[in-house]
Amino acid sequence: MRCPKCGTDNPDSKILCRECGARLRTAAATGKGALPARETGAELRRRVSYDLSRVVWVIAVVIAVGLGLGTLVK
Ligand SMILES: [Zn+2]
Repeated sequence: MRCPKCGTDNPDSKILCRECGARLRTAAATGKGALPARETGAELRRRVSYDLSRVVWVIAVVIAVGLGLGTLVK
């Protein structure tokens, strides 16, 4: 990302400009991290929905295996 002070291009992982040492991760400069609470909430929702879909998938597999075993045993 570009330093707002001197214009030097820095890697996104950098917090301070490698040229002038200015802080790169300001709310205005990134637009991201300006509202950490909302970002964390979105991240959490994404993770929860991922976990839910995984749980549903596991349950479906267990039911399918159970049904398969049930028909085999009978
Ligand atoms: Zn700079």
